[in-house]
Amino acid sequence: MAEDLTGRRALVLGAGMAGSLTAAALTPFFDRVTLVERDHLTGAGTDRRAGLPQAGHAHLLLGSGARWIDALLPGTTQALCDSGAHRLSMPAQVHTLSPHGWLPAIPEIQFLLSGTRSLIDTVVRERLLAGGRIELLTGTEVAGLMGDATRVTGARLRDRTTGAFRDEPATMVFDATGATSAAIAWLAELGTAPVATTVVDAGVGYATRTLRLPDAWRRLGAIYLQADPDGSGRGGVLLPVEDDRWLLSLSGVRGQNPPTDEPGFDAFVASLRHPVLAEALAQATPIGPIRGFRKLANRWRHFEGLRRGPEGFVVLGDAARSYNPAYGHGMSVAARSANVVREMMARHGSAPDLTRRLQRAVAGCADDAWAIASGQDARYLTDTRPGPVERLQRWYTNRLGRAAVHRPAVTKALLQSFTLDAPAGRLLAPRIVGKVLTTTDSPPPPPPFPPEAMPQRLPRDPATGRKTS
Ligand SMILES: Cc1cc2nc3c(=O)[nH]c(=O)nc-3n(C[C@H](O)[C@H](O)[C@H](O)COP(=O)(O)OP(=O)(O)OC[C@H]3O[C@@H](n4cnc5c(N)ncnc54)[C@H](O)[C@@H]3O)c2cc1C
Repeated sequence: MAEDLTGRRALVLGAGMAGSLTAAALTPFFDRVTLVERDHLTGAGTDRRAGLPQAGHAHLLLGSGARWIDALLPGTTQALCDSGAHRLSMPAQVHTLSPHGWLPAIPEIQFLLSGTRSLIDTVVRERLLAGGRIELLTGTEVAGLMGDATRVTGARLRDRTTGAFRDEPATMVFDATGATSAAIAWLAELGTAPVATTVVDAGVGYATRTLRLPDAWRRLGAIYLQADPDGSGRGGVLLPVEDDRWLLSLSGVRGQNPPTDEPGFDAFVASLRHPVLAEALAQATPIGPIRGFRKLANRWRHFEGLRRGPEGFVVLGDAARSYNPAYGHGMSVAARSANVVREMMARHGSAPDLTRRLQRAVAGCADDAWAIASGQDARYLTDTRPGPVERLQRWYTNRLGRAAVHRPAVTKALLQSFTLDAPAGRLLAPRIVGKVLTTTDSPPPPPPFPPEAMPQRLPRDPATGRKTS
């Protein structure tokens, strides 16, 4: 029977990126949209909150993601730039050392927004709440779902200040509680079939330090030393963020996580494939401690595969699929999913199988990000032998990466796909395949950082030990 959503209420669980944007997408279709968040949210400038432990690490927002956010909350990109986020032109201002060499500094193919995660969240939340259509419950933990195996009818909430439980009824419930979501357990409590999970775990870990750098570094933009699957698997990224700060995030695989003690962190930077990040660190004044993040597996919980899941319950964002963050996809996939939710609600809002349609459409938004991250990470796995198809894919990916260093048309296609601006399938278009297969082993272009091009070290003030810039 067709469903009439008029006069109904949506509950969105988790006020991270997926939850906030999904709430924005739902406002035209429900009388009430309530966003439920476990943390007590404060204003701007809080780098850390318990529910967002990743916030201290580099968080790049792809241009595609920024456009999807603007489609839901117009003017967000501009507001982020006005608040101090850096708009970086890619590849010219995002110097990238791929496993095959430096990508050429050709004109803008995509832009990236670089700011702290707390800045991005704060600006998004301010714009979300400015509309006055969203009810935000903070300090409120979701403890389970209401309903049964055929229909979810609300959520069971716990007030974190008083400890009191209450039931909040809703027409539809959207889970966006992130990578630690308990949705599978909540559904099991209602008696649904188990949800299958696929994990590709290369043992990725992060460590990040916030820095101040001499002004001369600003002209360089961001620097990204990608991990080489055929080498140590170590990578690092240096990003300018708001308030004249920089984030230096390092990543390692197979459990060789970058250390969080100072000598270990410095030694890890020195072991990267190019000395530019070690030079930056040598010239930097660190701010605060080194923060680590472990257990960054690619995890796909197949809610879209549930044959008889309950009506009225949809899972999005990291709660459904999370990835190795080195590719910077998570927030953009969340933004794309929210746009797709809006489109689906507009087209199929009264369809009897709305829940299933939504869950499938949301899953489709994450396929390319999953293919890129899990495909690359699978190369680090030592306990599985790749089959013929995988070996062919890896061979082509290597050729593609090499061609991207030499042929601007391939650079463009690769970056468009990797930044989710074009389907990954475009990398198999005959025009691109032709260029990939005819690229010869010519020497790679010279690095953009010969020693004389790097900002020079500044003398330290003998009294304070700080750099004198
Ligand atoms: C180290 C690291 C670096 C990353 N770098 C990037 C990057 O450069 N670019 C990028 O696009 N993505 C990056 N990501 C991924 C990005 O953080 C996520 O993909 C993105 O935040 C979308 O997640 P989400 O909204 O689904 O969940 P989150 O943003 O994690 O939000 C989940 C929310 O749910 C709340 N919550 C959890 N449980 C409950 C509960 N029971 N009740 C109520 N509320 C609850 C949490 O407090 C939180 O607010 C990175 C991730 C990590 C771990």
